[in-house]
Amino acid sequence: MMAKSIKAVIFDWAGTTVDYGCFAPIKGFVDGFKSIGFDITNEMARKPMGISKIEHIRAIAAMLSEPITEKQILRAYDAFENTLFASIERHCDIKDYVLQTTEALRARGIKIGSTTGYTPAMMERVIAKAAEQGYSPDFSIAPDKRIKGRPYPYMIWNNLMHFGIADARESVKIGDTTADICEGKNADCWTVGIIMGSSELGLTRNEVAALPVAELSGRKAAVRAAYYKAGADYIVDDMNEVLGVIDDINRRLSLNASRKLLTPGPLTTRYAVKHAMLTDHCTWDDEYKAVTTSVVNDITHICAGDDYATVLLQGSGSYAVEAMINCLCIENERILFLVNGEYGKRMLTMAGNSHRDYEYLSFDMIQPIDIEMLNNKLKADSAISTVVFVHCETTTGVLNPLKEITRLAKSYGKKVLVDAMSSFAAYDIDIQGLDIDALAASSNKCLEGLPGLSFVIAKKKLLDGSRSNSLSHSLDLYDQYQGLYAGGGKFRFTSPTNVLLALRQAINEYKKEGGLPARRMRYMENHKILVEGLGKLGIRPIVASEHQSYIITTFDLGSLDFHALYEALKSKGFIIYPGKLTSMPTFRLGNIGDVYPSDMAELVKAVEEYVCLSQAG
Ligand SMILES: *Cc1c(COP(=O)(O)O)cnc(C)c1O
Repeated sequence: MMAKSIKAVIFDWAGTTVDYGCFAPIKGFVDGFKSIGFDITNEMARKPMGISKIEHIRAIAAMLSEPITEKQILRAYDAFENTLFASIERHCDIKDYVLQTTEALRARGIKIGSTTGYTPAMMERVIAKAAEQGYSPDFSIAPDKRIKGRPYPYMIWNNLMHFGIADARESVKIGDTTADICEGKNADCWTVGIIMGSSELGLTRNEVAALPVAELSGRKAAVRAAYYKAGADYIVDDMNEVLGVIDDINRRLSLNASRKLLTPGPLTTRYAVKHAMLTDHCTWDDEYKAVTTSVVNDITHICAGDDYATVLLQGSGSYAVEAMINCLCIENERILFLVNGEYGKRMLTMAGNSHRDYEYLSFDMIQPIDIEMLNNKLKADSAISTVVFVHCETTTGVLNPLKEITRLAKSYGKKVLVDAMSSFAAYDIDIQGLDIDALAASSNKCLEGLPGLSFVIAKKKLLDGSRSNSLSHSLDLYDQYQGLYAGGGKFRFTSPTNVLLALRQAINEYKKEGGLPARRMRYMENHKILVEGLGKLGIRPIVASEHQSYIITTFDLGSLDFHALYEALKSKGFIIYPGKLTSMPTFRLGNIGDVYPSDMAELVKAVEEYVCLSQAG
């Protein structure tokens, strides 16, 4: 899980590293077309710059008002070559900062590659001339009969093959035409457009010096716009900015290192889930609304039948919890919260802020909710109409007895609302069989989607009757329910389109894995390896095993230092989570997301190495 870094920089030749302004080919093209009776401007000659020269001739021919035969093209090409070979060696001046920059790149162990639009015969002259002046890339290749030129990526891939680079994202393409940028994008490497002395700018040094400042900056802005439109990752004035670009790319590569998040969410997600976000979608489009509807139906059917509806809501899980409490209870209805952790407490704040009539029972954080106490409370207080609790308290990892709590509350005829945020799609929740009225969960927990979407699964009858309950317009579940169901998959306000597409894919992945049985099995296995492995090192869960969920576990930190442990594990690609208990030092490990028993075994090994080191020190 080493962070990636740039291993090769692949430069274009004329206009990028040699031949300021890329003038060598221009006269050749003009002469070539003159030989078949056409006067073309320098601008026309320059327009297709970067692609292979024969394709370049064809591209110019396509700009003419008359059709040109293939025979004429070949004749023009011969004339072009004659002119070019006569002058090419006079156009091999090394551009500014090229020698210093390539030397500095090599000093960092970065290979210098190259691609070009010239033919191999032309390159022979250019390479020799550049070498005389001290510039020699480690690899050069030119388009020929076997290897298509730009915008095809093959020349770059030949560089990568030569250097033994597996991931194109560890290479950068630098060029002075939009064809260079397209070649780089097609090869999947990073791309840099260079402005000064480029073919795109098309000016000699003297012309640049003679231009009024405003005029020059206008021309440069046009070059920038062309590179930007082509999709360049970076645009620089000159070669002396390249080292800074490499630093920035390396920083981004290290941020993107394939880390395993052992946290309660957001989680490590699959490539396909993130990739699904690459489509930009309009919200009122029928195709998009159909995706929304399919997500709503699939989530409902994970645990319920058609008497229930799923109401998606923008925002993290707390938004759904707050909407559930505020919309599915009427104003003077007395709510009883059962609290044994931070997420339970958060619900009290929500109810307090909306001036609900509520009370709560508070329990030890490392113990499950006590059925006996709940029974006594419900027996004594008939004014209570609704019971609300968290299924798996992510604060500690305690699993509350969902069935027993629900059955008891139901036996008193109470409404039951559940925060099933961290357990949904990991535990079997028989919402219908238990007659649960509503539960809240989110996209970025065990469904292994991305943050930004939450949802409430509720009885349709309850939703239908919730019309004017909400004190908040944005969190009005009823209104959102109308849009999603009566409106055929319509969000009321801007929908997090990319996150929704990712959730669609995450549900596909869930099904592909084998649904709940397979996912649960993987999580249980992950959890077992963690607890057993760390147990051997004397690091133990603080919750008794019979109350411990297989999603997230709080461990006793003992004499270990959290920050040192955190950094040691991070350097090996694992991100852990601090504990939330005030009574003792702890840390938490989630074992959900795109993580596997082999990852858990690696983590245990990494902790062991840290423990050994810190004991030795
Ligand atoms: C994650 C989670 C939430 C939602 O928290 P957000 O910070 O809004 O994502 C609520 N309840 C539980 C039990 C959770 O695990």
